[in-house]
This record gives sequence, structure tokens and C-alpha cells, in this order.
Amino acid sequence: MRFFILLLIFITTNFFAQQNEDSLQIRKIYSYHLTKGRTYANLRSLCKEVGARLSGSKQAVKAIDWAKQAMIKAGVDSIYLVPCMVPHWVRGKKEKCEVNNNNKTETLSVCALGGSIGTPVNGIKTKVIEVSSFEELEKIGTEKIKGNIVFYNVSFDKEFIHTGNAYGKAVKYRSGASMAVKYGAVASITKSMTTSDNDFPHTGMMKYDSLVKQKIPAFAISARGAEKLSSLLSQNKNLEMYLYSDCVTLPDEPSYSVVGEIHGKEIPNEVIVVGGHLDSWDLGEGAHDDGAGIVQSIEVLAAFKKLNIKNKRTIRCIAYMNEENGTRGGETYTESASKESKKHIAALESDMGGFSPRAIGVDAKQDTLTYYKKWQPLFEPYYVFIKQGGGGTDISKLKGIPQFSFEPDSQRYFDFHHTADDVFEHVNKRELELGAATISSFIYLLDKYGTYTK
Ligand SMILES: [Zn+2]
Repeated sequence: MRFFILLLIFITTNFFAQQNEDSLQIRKIYSYHLTKGRTYANLRSLCKEVGARLSGSKQAVKAIDWAKQAMIKAGVDSIYLVPCMVPHWVRGKKEKCEVNNNNKTETLSVCALGGSIGTPVNGIKTKVIEVSSFEELEKIGTEKIKGNIVFYNVSFDKEFIHTGNAYGKAVKYRSGASMAVKYGAVASITKSMTTSDNDFPHTGMMKYDSLVKQKIPAFAISARGAEKLSSLLSQNKNLEMYLYSDCVTLPDEPSYSVVGEIHGKEIPNEVIVVGGHLDSWDLGEGAHDDGAGIVQSIEVLAAFKKLNIKNKRTIRCIAYMNEENGTRGGETYTESASKESKKHIAALESDMGGFSPRAIGVDAKQDTLTYYKKWQPLFEPYYVFIKQGGGGTDISKLKGIPQFSFEPDSQRYFDFHHTADDVFEHVNKRELELGAATISSFIYLLDKYGTYTK
């Protein structure tokens, strides 16, 4: 009995000593990011010196070099590139959308959706049929839709607390062109996926259904534009709209994901991935999406180096190429990882913006979650919790290993997401740095204790 009591005291004391050591280390990590880190300076440089960097563009090439230089500055032990062929879609001339209201021409804010074909050179001029769902589209049917533009006026469900859930529900309408063409539509226009009511149209990838032969141009309209259009249509069902776009898909281009790592000191063959995506949409500067995730991931490695943390395992930062319109970087990295002798044990992605940290998402069942939840008290001083459900588009290709997501506050993300307004000025320095600190701290714990094993 005495032995068991002593053992229990030993285990408990040891646990609290570890927690104390970890809490001190995590405090140092946060202090580093908030006072000495380069996260914000790096984001400024990426946004202002490189700017928008859609796959296949000249700026995307520049971004690859930028990421290499930033990783060198962070002090990584080695860097390499993983090649991939990426789609090359070009927006071309500025899109136009005009309606004639009582002999007055009104301009509405639209943009072509990524992957869309352009309109004929003279544009398209015809009536608009407004629908709020695919079911309504079907009900209205071919007779009324044929030869006209379908306007998907689908509201972003504002009841969700995590705005990502509202996005997940509405995003299928971005690829509504193939559905509309089945009823004879000549173009489709979709209300932007946003919680705000501003005048920025939100681009994003649209896909044509491979089983539907005919393709029509697909546009997004700003939330304000959609409201205006709906109100005009309620007064005049025969309202005509003029639409013009110039976009085109060129042959695939060679490109690269950039990988930097710091070698493990005890178990170098085990790899922990931390990353985001280097490409962005062509509007704006890709500041929140996903410049934030890139600079945070790079700064994780810098923090380990500068704080002289002796990581047991290899920590690898990946600036993935082509998340936005193809995920080729995620695919080819996974392929290359399957051929190396090192073993991946965990991956974390930051691709939800540079806002205040809220949580680390864990893609796991309850028993596994319990293991990571033990770390939650360490994050409480920083207002961060560990929650069920996580991962990211790029790392999702790395099957069979635990996946995590960095989850900042989501309330303002869809004000900027995929718009010309996703610029450096909308990222708050402290919020961005707190994110980098949260990710670094979680990676520190993953490295020290490893992942859950049964
Ligand atoms: Zn993104």
C-alpha cells in the first residue's frame, strides 16, 4: 500500500513538474512572438513585394523565391522544393455587369469565378432568373430559364457561430453553372459567400460538372450587388443584364511547394508538418488567405531556433502551392513523402486567417481527443481551447496521421476571403503573432510528447 501511495505521489509530482516546465516554455514562446518575431514583417513583405499569387502566375514564381528566402532567414537547417504542375487560369480584362433600370444604366460589382470560361467578346445581354436554391431552379424549369442568366441569390446562413460552417453550406452554388446550363441558361451569377454586406465580389474556384458537356461563364456578385439586383428584379421581371468577362484557362505550368525543416535531435526520422498555402487568388494580396498561415508556419521554425528549443523530431514547414484551384502541391508533397524513409507523425495547417487564436482543432475520435485535451490548461492563459474536428485541405492528403488545424476567430474572415480587400492592412499585428505563438506552442508539445498511440 505504501509503495502505491509513494508511486502515486511520484507520478502526480512528475506530472505537475512537467506541466510547470511546459507552461514556462510556452510563456517564452508567446513572449518571443510578441516581442521579437518576424511574422508581421514577413506578411508585409509577402503582401507588398509579391502580392496576389495565383498558381501559374509570375507572382507565384516570385512567391516561391520569397518563401525560400524567408525560411533561410528563419534559420532552417535545410530547404527543398517539391515540383507540381499547376492549372493556369487568367482573369483577363475587368469584368462588367450592367442593368438598365428605367433608362438608367446601373453597374453591379461582379467578378469571374476561378476556372470559369469567358463570355463571347461582345458579352451576354439577356434576362435574369433569380433562384434561392437548386430545388427552385428545377421547379422553374427549362421553359423560363432557356437563354437567360441564372442568379443564385443564396443567403449565407448567419446563424452559425463558426462562419466556416455557413461557407460549407453555401459553397456548392459557386459551381452552379453546370446545373443552370441543364435548363438552358447562358451564364450564372452567384451571390458572394460572405457575412458582410459590402460591395466586394468574392471569387473562388468553380468546377464544371464533367458529365455536362456545355460550359457557361460563371460570375460572383457582391452581397450589396445581389441585394440591389434582387430588388430591381422584384420591380421588373423583364430586367436585362449585360455581362462580360475575358477569362481563359491556359496549359498547366510547372510550379513548386517550398519545404524548410529543422532536424530532430533525438528522433530525426519522425516528421511533424506545419504549413499553409503559398498561392492566393488574384484579387487582393492574399493576406489572411493564406499569407497569414505561411508567415506563421515559417515563424514556428524561427521560434524553435531562436529560443534554442532542442526539438526531438524533425519539424517541417511547408508552403504548399495551388491550394486554391487544384491542390496539386498537397498531392505531390504527399507523393514525395511516401517515397522518403522518414515517417510523418502529425500535420497542422493554418488556413483560416490571421485573427485572434481561439482553438486548435483535432481531427480525432473522443479517446484520442482526451490525450490532446490534457494540454488545454497550458493554453488557458492565452484563451485558446482544444476542440474536436480539425485538419486542412493541403495536409488532408497525408492520410493515416493525426491532423490539426489552427483556428482563429472566424467572424471577420468572410469579410475579406477571396476579395480585392484581403490586404495586409486588414491583418492585426498582435492577433497574427498570437496565432504564430499558439501554433508554435502546440508543435512544441507534439514534438515533446508525440502523438496519441493506443
Ligand atoms: Zn486558403
